Amino acid sequence: LRGVSKSFSTNGKVERVLNHINGTIENGSIVTILGPSGSGKSTILSMCNLLLTPDEGDVFIYGKEVRNWNIPELRQTVGIAFQAAPMIPGTVLDNLLLPASIHQMNIDHPEQFLEKVSLPESLLHKNVQDLSGGQRQRLGLARTLVNRPSILLLDEITSALDPSSVREIEHLILNLHKEENTTILWVTHDLDQARRVGTHSWLIVNGELVEHSPTESFFTTPKDDRTKQFLAKGM
Ligand code: ATP
Ligand code: MG
Repeated sequence: LRGVSKSFSTNGKVERVLNHINGTIENGSIVTILGPSGSGKSTILSMCNLLLTPDEGDVFIYGKEVRNWNIPELRQTVGIAFQAAPMIPGTVLDNLLLPASIHQMNIDHPEQFLEKVSLPESLLHKNVQDLSGGQRQRLGLARTLVNRPSILLLDEITSALDPSSVREIEHLILNLHKEENTTILWVTHDLDQARRVGTHSWLIVNGELVEHSPTESFFTTPKDDRTKQFLAKGM
C-alpha cells in the first residue's frame, strides 16, 4: 500500500478513515492486522480486492496496481472471508460452488473443500439455513478456498467460534500457508491469536499504521507508545 487514504461521507459529514497508509507485505507472510474497533482494518482489506478504492494512493498486488487487474483474475488470486459469510438461499453445495460458477470453473470433488475446513461430506445437500453459526463460518472459508487464492484476506473469521474450533481453523490455515505459501492478511481482535499465527503484525489506530513489525518484536518490544497502550489494555 502506498500513501493510501480513504474517507467516507455520511449525511454530509466526511470522516477520514485511512490516513496515508504505507506498508509492504512480503509474499508468503502472515500479517495480523490489529486495532480498535472502527480504526480502518476492514477498509484496508476491502481495498486489496477492489471492493473499495482509495481516494489517494495506490494498492499494488504482485507489483501491479489493483485497478489494472481484470476482476475475474483478481477474484481468483485474492480470496476474502468474513466473520458473517453472506450465503445464497440453497444448499451447502450451491454456496460452495458459487464462486466457481461465477468464474465458470468446473470443480471436481467439491467435498474436498468441506474436508479442508473439517465439515462432514454429509452436509453437502443440507440447506444453508439449517447450519449452525460455526458451520456457516467454516463454509464461508471453504468457499473462499475453492478458487485456490494465493492471497487470503481474513476478517475476524474465528470470532464466533468456540475455543477448540478457533484452534482448528488456525491450524487449517497455517497448514494451507505451509503447503501453498499463501500470503495472508488476517484481521483479528484476539491478541493471542495474532501472536500464534502471525509472522508480522500491524497496528492500525485512527486510520494510521502506527506499528508494523515481525510479530515477536511487535509483542515483546513495541516501538510506538500507542502499541504499548493497546497491548496493555489487552483489547
Ligand atoms: P471493527 O474492528 O469494528 O471491525 P474496523 O477497524 O474494521 O472495525 P472499518 O470497518 O474499516 O473498521 O471502518 C472504519 C471506519 O469507517 C468506521 O468509523 C466505519 O463506521 C467507517 N465506514 C466503513 N465503511 C463505511 C461505509 N461504507 N460508509 C461510511 N462509513 C464507513
Ligand atoms: Mg472490521
